Amino acid sequence: SDHQLIYPPHPDQMDWSSLFPDYVVADEEPQQPRRQQPDSSAAAPASSGAELAPLQPKRLSKEVEIADIGCGFGGLLVALAPTLPDTLMLGLEIRVSVTQFVEDRIQALRAQARRAAEAAEAEAEAAGSSPPPPAPGMYRNVGVLRANAMKFLPNFFRKGQLSKIFICFPDPHFKARKHKQRIVSATLNSEYAYVLRPGGIVYTITDVPDLHEWMVRHFEAHPSFERVPEPEQEADPCVAIMRTETEEGKKVERNKGQKHVALFRRLEDPEW
Ligand code: SAM
Repeated sequence: SDHQLIYPPHPDQMDWSSLFPDYVVADEEPQQPRRQQPDSSAAAPASSGAELAPLQPKRLSKEVEIADIGCGFGGLLVALAPTLPDTLMLGLEIRVSVTQFVEDRIQALRAQARRAAEAAEAEAEAAGSSPPPPAPGMYRNVGVLRANAMKFLPNFFRKGQLSKIFICFPDPHFKARKHKQRIVSATLNSEYAYVLRPGGIVYTITDVPDLHEWMVRHFEAHPSFERVPEPEQEADPCVAIMRTETEEGKKVERNKGQKHVALFRRLEDPEW
């Protein structure tokens, strides 16, 4: 349940370094543990000294820009990673075992890409030629977090931080009394609008016609979003990837189901 979820109190306190170690900025000065001022009003035991406060999170050279909400087994992220090799992307997934699976998948792909690059380098050296360029990004730009995306989005991302949000085959919650658990709603759309920059895109896809209509209705009714016209939607390379590379998309394909796609652009905030 949610009380076991870990989330930062504020995006500035989020430490991304373990997810994106290749993007950590080396500090010029080593970080010093900050010592909390002992509270003079409290009778602290003389020997305990000051407690160590957490270190400042390590900085990355760039920020996460793409979020995959309810990423499942990570098919979308893994397919997007080499396509946008220098854009940091994060999957948010609520199930522990599924998150762990994606974490292991990313580690394995990184190790495989590294080994392939090393082998190509060694081969080129032996042949006296220059090595081929390594696989773009080598999956260093993709990470996954266990999180309830319905609750803690603004804890992880600053206002306007994201350029793309993917909502692929979200749980349909068919029954009317379960609709409040849908990942698209007036309230949640305001959170997506908050973390998305003007011009940023929310990508949605589902095989459930009723859920598709629900998502379109809720985004179109929201003042911060407009629907992206179909020609533009179909020209976006991320749409093809979203249709074919998610695990759920593949399942729908096998079952010869329909895939309903809708994209929504984050509008500029009106001037007051
Ligand atoms: N997007 C993936 C795909 O297309 O293959 C997975 C789709 S699956 C039907 C929906 C996923 O959303 C599940 O893995 C589920 O655990 C996850 N999920 C549901 N509610 C969530 C929430 N509040 N926060 C994060 N993930 C959630």
